[in-house]
Amino acid sequence: MTGCNIHSFETFGLVDGPGVRFVVFVQGCPMRCQFCHNPDTWSTKENQIFSAKEVFEKAIRYKPYWKDNGGITVSGGEPLLQIDFVTELFKLCKENGVNTCLDTAGGVFSKESKFFEKFKILMQYTDLIMLDIKEINNTRHEIITGMKNDHILEMAKTMDEMGKRMWIRHVLVPERSDYDEDLIKLREFISSLKNVEKVEVLPYHTLGRHKWDNLGIEYKLEGIDPPTKERVDNANRILSGNI
Ligand code: SF4
Repeated sequence: MTGCNIHSFETFGLVDGPGVRFVVFVQGCPMRCQFCHNPDTWSTKENQIFSAKEVFEKAIRYKPYWKDNGGITVSGGEPLLQIDFVTELFKLCKENGVNTCLDTAGGVFSKESKFFEKFKILMQYTDLIMLDIKEINNTRHEIITGMKNDHILEMAKTMDEMGKRMWIRHVLVPERSDYDEDLIKLREFISSLKNVEKVEVLPYHTLGRHKWDNLGIEYKLEGIDPPTKERVDNANRILSGNI
């Protein structure tokens, strides 16, 4: 049994995959997104440890609410940092007919054999992947997340080749990830994939702002407001291919 360092649980998640979902937020993330509303998930310091079986037993009590399309989502933080746990949990889910969704930003993805072998096994038990692509422009991606995006785009292509169902999400941040030329390139990239079922634009918001202060971390988006409705509509139009 692999223990997992967990940040928190949400019993009735409505925005983390299809239907009503039990959401497991794992602790630890290698990215440093300037807009992150959960910077308290970044640290890999031990918070609370649960085995996959314990998490499954906690979640399965909510099965009556999941109906046809709900189930369990593992989010974060970055779930792939604790890939052994996610695989164990999703295996249990599939043995019990539970829908599984992985919400990842792909920051730790690698085709290096040790990780990739584990990833391929995890994919056998994963019904849907929600992958964040924070910026298609590599320079801007590094500014907004602290990391280049090559391996994240490679992950999208790899999952597509595996035939995995994907939702792509893009957080729209004025002055960071809201440029028409980048949105058009992102659309082109998405269009090159065959298994993307949905593209979601997530408007930047400041609801987690206080957490940065509490943690004593400098907030780099000071003075930047959430995007206007026009810019959100514009991003939705471009990313849906309606330009
Ligand atoms: S990948 Fe997610 S959890 Fe990690 S820093 Fe970015 S927004 Fe926060």
